[in-house]
Amino acid sequence: MESINPHSGQKLQSYIAESDEAVSIRIQAANGAYHDWKMTSFAERKKLMQAVAGVLRERKAELANLMADEMGKVIRDGLAEVQKCADCCDFYALHAETFLQDQRVASDAAQSYVAFDPLGVILAVMPWNFPFWQVFRFAAPSLMAGNVGVLKHASNVSGCGLAIQDAFAAAGFPQHVFTTLLIESSRVEQLIRHPLVRAVTLTGSTPAGKSVASIAGSELKKSVLELGGSDAYIVLDDADLEQAVDTCVKSRLINAGQSCIAAKRFIVASSLRREFERRYAERFRTIRFGDPKDNSVDIGPLARADLRDQVHEQVQRSIGQGARLLAGGTVPQGPGAYYPPTVLTDVRPGMAAFDEEVFGPVAAIIEANDERHAVALANQSAFGLGSAIFSTDQARADRIARELEAGSVFINALVKSDPRLPFGGVKQSGYGRELSWFGIREFVNIKTVYHAAGADKHSHDAAAGRTGE
Ligand code: NAP
Repeated sequence: MESINPHSGQKLQSYIAESDEAVSIRIQAANGAYHDWKMTSFAERKKLMQAVAGVLRERKAELANLMADEMGKVIRDGLAEVQKCADCCDFYALHAETFLQDQRVASDAAQSYVAFDPLGVILAVMPWNFPFWQVFRFAAPSLMAGNVGVLKHASNVSGCGLAIQDAFAAAGFPQHVFTTLLIESSRVEQLIRHPLVRAVTLTGSTPAGKSVASIAGSELKKSVLELGGSDAYIVLDDADLEQAVDTCVKSRLINAGQSCIAAKRFIVASSLRREFERRYAERFRTIRFGDPKDNSVDIGPLARADLRDQVHEQVQRSIGQGARLLAGGTVPQGPGAYYPPTVLTDVRPGMAAFDEEVFGPVAAIIEANDERHAVALANQSAFGLGSAIFSTDQARADRIARELEAGSVFINALVKSDPRLPFGGVKQSGYGRELSWFGIREFVNIKTVYHAAGADKHSHDAAAGRTGE
């Protein structure tokens, strides 16, 4: 497996994939670690999770540099990403015990309660676009719940995968509680089928999600899928146009447009469409793209040349289908996987820029005749991850929010992930939730404990003590 610097096009490093035998030994070691880890107290897990947050903060500059090298993220964004991972570790360190506290339930039992027990070895298959954040938002809650994690990272960010394993080790986590495996995606199937792997989470494209879900389903193993999106941002006729344009520009350019929750389709009321289009294209033409280590650029290259070519093909196809190009759209000369900020307008259903996820800095502007039409267009998508509404009428925005088929709706704001709020999608954007207390309860055994009449309070307290309550 190779990592290639997307700025220079030069090879950074080659990695030899681990053999089947080595993988099997490491899964067994992870399972061995699980039996001790699940018995540790929340206090002990908390101390270690806070320690890994500290390691991340100390290594912030080094890790941001690694992301810039491996996948082209600008340093400023890389620093913010590592900081967010550290905050997520602190969040779960602080709240995991409360989120997983036994819940007493009144029933016909003398006493009954629900306990949240860990499952065991959880496999995480992760993408390159937020190489630290995607992993930590899985790992922090899963490990705090008493599971152990095995990571198969995207092949182009193997260095980031190893750096994460190293951060857990440096924080003092017991060996094998978090493991990074260097393997190709063709070998994910054998991992899911491994008897010691209890569940799998994948963040990535919809085709990869379908493959993982069907294999996990055939093994009756739980899966969580965080997949692609084509988020609709609806700009209603009563929107504050300046604020809407500003937010829509920022959201489309997050991570050079390579974010599942970057805005992708801008559905604009007819009365505002011309002015929105004009201001939006003007802003896009001023965006500076270039070397991710140059602090003066706004966005870096795309992560790989083949992904850049795919984005360009989607733009070309959309134009062929009748979309009009307002900015960008030309692959620059020279090395690197660069693509300019690009604006397409007159986009309609049936065009690539409407129907597919375009994973790069490409905005698709779509005109809506009225509010009903805007909602119908937003929902006319295979995806259902995030969405946003711009309106100065809060009640109207709230009403529309309930009609949108998406895992989140942000009003007058760009869609973002936050450890305090659940994150995930519907339709082809996947299922299950990460973050908040919803996320930490995905990979636990929600266990009912029932005492027949005559059992005394002491027995519950003993059980609760075992889980550190
Ligand atoms: P990807 O090609 O699906 O790869 C994601 C991960 O899955 C990588 O580790 C990859 O390994 C592995 N993989 C690929 N095909 C597989 C298969 N058939 N079976 C098992 N594993 C497989 O996606 P990507 O290009 O890295 O990431 C971009 C996609 O992720 C976009 O669609 C984006 O919207 C989505 N995403 C979603 C979220 C969310 O929270 N909903 C967040 C971030 C990104 P290799 O690298 O070795 O192929």
